[in-house]
Amino acid sequence: MEKGKPTVILGVFVADTAYRASRQPRMGETLLGSAFKLGPGGKGSNQAVAAARLGADVSFITRLGRDPFADMALTTWREAGVKPAVIETPESYTGAAYIFVEEESGNNAIIVCPGAATLISPADIEASADLIRSAGVFVTQLEQPIEAAIRALEIAREAGVTTILNPAPAAKLPPEIFALCDYATPNETEAEELTGIAVTSPADARRAGEALLEKGVGAAVVTLGEKGALLVDRDSAEHVPAFAAGPVVETTGAGDAFNGGFAVGLARGLTPAEAVRFGCAVAGISVTRPGTAPSMPELAEVEALLS
Ligand code: ATP
Repeated sequence: MEKGKPTVILGVFVADTAYRASRQPRMGETLLGSAFKLGPGGKGSNQAVAAARLGADVSFITRLGRDPFADMALTTWREAGVKPAVIETPESYTGAAYIFVEEESGNNAIIVCPGAATLISPADIEASADLIRSAGVFVTQLEQPIEAAIRALEIAREAGVTTILNPAPAAKLPPEIFALCDYATPNETEAEELTGIAVTSPADARRAGEALLEKGVGAAVVTLGEKGALLVDRDSAEHVPAFAAGPVVETTGAGDAFNGGFAVGLARGLTPAEAVRFGCAVAGISVTRPGTAPSMPELAEVEALLS
């Protein structure tokens, strides 16, 4: 498969700091935990890593502080081959997430502080306008301010760049954003937040996808976890099953793997349905490995699964 057109992603990096303990500390209490893990996170950054691991030409627009977590972001991107388009923001700090993992259940409770990324503004986007215009595919999510996402989608749209909005985390959106999206890629929760339609089956996903089309998106891809994804466009709805690439180890970041893969598929000229299948294959491999960014597969692995 050829390298394809450049992919430009706008989003957030956060350092995930995961603490495992029997329970959360009470106010004023200090508790000894049993394990700690530090790793790169943030939806946009994970999607950029997923896309770059597949050999795509990927640039990532964001803001970072000037601190050790910024170094971690830059190292992560260098190792994956992501080209950073970073505005250094020394007055703030690089995003970080506190993830408490309960020993017995594995359930988690999370605090995210996006730090410098909360300062990403429409003016920042103007400064990156030429980069966005040079892309074949542009992708963003909802972790940075929505005004920045809208401005970037507008610039991409005007230049004829294919636009993907991954509307995560779930949020209500200003109505004007939908017509700027060639593709919206919600999971079940996000699809319900945007349409009011509870999604638990491909049939529900079709109705939610059609509601998103009515709002103005070009096509909707509703991801359904182990049930795969549903592509809904003007003419049809197509269910693409998930891939069983091995025993499932960790599904965190499956959505990011899917979005990175889907974007690369489109940038390489696949049809929308083929690109959804490609994204499902990328995500299907990622869930068989621990971690988020480190679990993203390489192109040869995805091609082997698809052949
Ligand atoms: P997360 O929040 O865990 O990152 P998400 O809720 O955004 O994920 P999902 O719909 O759960 O996104 O998953 C995205 C894609 O990942 C699915 O469309 C599917 O292709 C793949 N996937 C998810 N879970 C599994 C699984 N258990 N087995 C195989 N593929 C999976």
